[in-house]
Amino acid sequence: MERPESKILNIAATAAAAVMFFMLSANVCLADARGNTTGGITGLLLLREAAKEFAAAMSKAAEEAVDPPITRREVYRIKPGKKITKKDIKRRGGPGRYFQIYKIQKGDLVYGRIAGRSYKPGGAVKLSDLRYIRTLYYDFDGRIRSGEIIVNRSIAKDTKAVFRELYRTKNQIRKMRLIDDYFTSGKTAVWSAAAAEKADTASMNDDNTSGFNYRMVAGTSTISMHGYGRAIDVNPFENPWCPGGSIYSNQKSSAAYADRSNRRDHMIFADSGITRIFKKHGFRWLGETGTRDYQHFEK
Ligand SMILES: [Zn+2]
Repeated sequence: MERPESKILNIAATAAAAVMFFMLSANVCLADARGNTTGGITGLLLLREAAKEFAAAMSKAAEEAVDPPITRREVYRIKPGKKITKKDIKRRGGPGRYFQIYKIQKGDLVYGRIAGRSYKPGGAVKLSDLRYIRTLYYDFDGRIRSGEIIVNRSIAKDTKAVFRELYRTKNQIRKMRLIDDYFTSGKTAVWSAAAAEKADTASMNDDNTSGFNYRMVAGTSTISMHGYGRAIDVNPFENPWCPGGSIYSNQKSSAAYADRSNRRDHMIFADSGITRIFKKHGFRWLGETGTRDYQHFEK
């Protein structure tokens, strides 16, 4: 058994080491102050190095602790569109925790929502090519909400980075939920091009920001960039598609926004923060091409 004195000595030694560590990491040079020998200085420098390494390891651990993934089970409990308070965010360890990329697996909750709707089993795009991303966003009233989007795995990291930055810069998004919520197909949905186009129309008119939807370019049999999950439509109501300068027939309710010289809130322009952020992450904006698809970013 340990004698009490040695316990006290241990405590004293620990305290001395702690004081030493503090002084060293605070860059106080004991050696110079006391005029110690070279050997003493070397010893102190070694200690200082060790203290620095320790501090670096601690800060790395702290950084990693800020952004661990929210588990699949946990994230599914947060309903897309749910209002998130600053207190919630703090409790979960910061906003970074809400920005996560998940694989989609046959039989899971996301699969149940997309199969036969935006996802065509056996189609040209495999389930393993897709990623489900959760985000936070500021809505048009400046409230923080939980968002979701599906994109191709090749652009998943960039997509997450874009929405992380849109959140940080408080760029507003009306809604951000899977396009599958706009399909009217029943529980056992069977994919069809017509249903996919109908859902796209409903989502645009509801001003929903979305990505993947296995559908064709309107009026053709070419798979749209959305069909590959490589395109994202942002605030589509204020940013309609205007082929040849006139409003797309499925977006007639957005006719007031076809005139781009009348600048209003949430309209996207070449000099908008949203455009700058998407471009920074390698996306192309179709609002400045002949297509005049003001809502559309692709990569
Ligand atoms: Zn689009």
